[in-house]
Amino acid sequence: MSDFDVVLRGGTVIDGTGAPRFDADVGIEGRRIAAIGDLSNARGRSEIDVRGRIVAPGFIDAHTHDDRYLMQSPLMPAKLSQGVTTVITGNCGISLAPWCAAPGEAVPPPLDLLGDATAAFRYAAFGDYLDALEQAAPAVNAACLVGHTTLRVALMDRLDRAATDPEIAAMQALLRDAMLAGACGMSTGAAYPAAMAASTDEMARVATALHGFGAVHASHIRDEGDSIREAIDEAVAIGEAGDASVVVSHHKLIGPKNHGRSVETLAHLAQVMRHRCVGLDCYPYQAGSTVLRKDRLAVSSRVILTRSQPHPEYAGQDLDAIAAAMGLSPEDAVDVLQPAGAIYFLMDEADVRRILAFPQTMIGSDGLPHDPVPHPRLWGTFPRVLGHYSRDVGLFPLETAVHKMTGLTAGHFGLQQRGVLSEGNFADVTVFDAARIVDNATFEHPVAQATGVECVFVNGELAWRDGAGTGVRAGAVIRHASGRESQCNRSRMIS
Ligand code: ZN
Repeated sequence: MSDFDVVLRGGTVIDGTGAPRFDADVGIEGRRIAAIGDLSNARGRSEIDVRGRIVAPGFIDAHTHDDRYLMQSPLMPAKLSQGVTTVITGNCGISLAPWCAAPGEAVPPPLDLLGDATAAFRYAAFGDYLDALEQAAPAVNAACLVGHTTLRVALMDRLDRAATDPEIAAMQALLRDAMLAGACGMSTGAAYPAAMAASTDEMARVATALHGFGAVHASHIRDEGDSIREAIDEAVAIGEAGDASVVVSHHKLIGPKNHGRSVETLAHLAQVMRHRCVGLDCYPYQAGSTVLRKDRLAVSSRVILTRSQPHPEYAGQDLDAIAAAMGLSPEDAVDVLQPAGAIYFLMDEADVRRILAFPQTMIGSDGLPHDPVPHPRLWGTFPRVLGHYSRDVGLFPLETAVHKMTGLTAGHFGLQQRGVLSEGNFADVTVFDAARIVDNATFEHPVAQATGVECVFVNGELAWRDGAGTGVRAGAVIRHASGRESQCNRSRMIS
């Protein structure tokens, strides 16, 4: 007679709340965690010896561009290998839906970060996308944001102007439909040309459609350089217009002139958090990655090409070397390589560490899965925080590291019964070896599996074991419950 489907025996639990670790067995029954404690008198249909290992909630990737990747590569090894069991999609203003592209229509940057195949953009209604995602049965859970830039692409004839009143009304209607179908909020990306011409007023008025949903507004803010403070305030104002909690995405300071200013931006955010529900996410690297753009060259010490449609042969090489081979200036090479993507070394290590260590900072990979030679954050983010920054550098205790990728994130995005190991919650569980966990992806060899993640359960099913996927695809599309009270309550603000 078995008492549980699975018993994880003899491990050390870090529960995701930030509380100190404790030794306990964990029993899983069906999709849920059934018991945590001394289960020596109980039996599991399957028992796994996890002595000497950490048993944690499955990690939540707060910032992804996996909208299409979940369907294209449903086994999701880049995520499961890191212990990630849930991804937040649709960040930076970019979502796969709602937009039905005409055959042959070009995919405007930065939407091409989701892949440049026009045929992939075929969901006029966000609910149709969520249904298709469910049918694709990915191995990890997904909670999905609606991209404001995608709304612009779907509804406007040109992107170099602010939306008109009728266009704003149409965006509101699409966004409201998406929320009713189960989206978790809206993202904006005014830093990109496709949305630069959008005024604060446009984005705030679109955001009013979020009212009553307890939604999130995640923002790739307009400026991560000289005007970053104003850009943070704009993101907060847009969230406020929709009564939504705010996430400042991949917080960073771009360019030598702004290095060190995280002291100022974090103090400002802490001040704003006394009155507003605001969080932020960060990836643990000094280099960023996005579409190839000229305005990044002057503020970067090194640029690596990640993809180029006309010149795929140069992916993985430094832009300077490519330009030299072409006999062009780097600026002119950028024109020849488009459409393209790149990695930019433009941050300061002290800023990266200060932002990672800030109490309200969640971990988000911002991985770009459609790049042939991607930024290593796609395969390395979570083990790098646990191994390099927590264990080796000593930036924060392991309990804090786990909290930043589990309980903190679930709370901010309103993911119910996930992110914390407690009885009754969904059995998203990651077992790892704290002494061994390490990221192996580098800028030279970015597609490399991390070491140290031993078992990953998604909704009670074993999805990863000893370095390989099991083939089980038990992920759920987490549909945001409409009409829920705002997540933005006093207890989640900094006092
Ligand atoms: Zn972004």
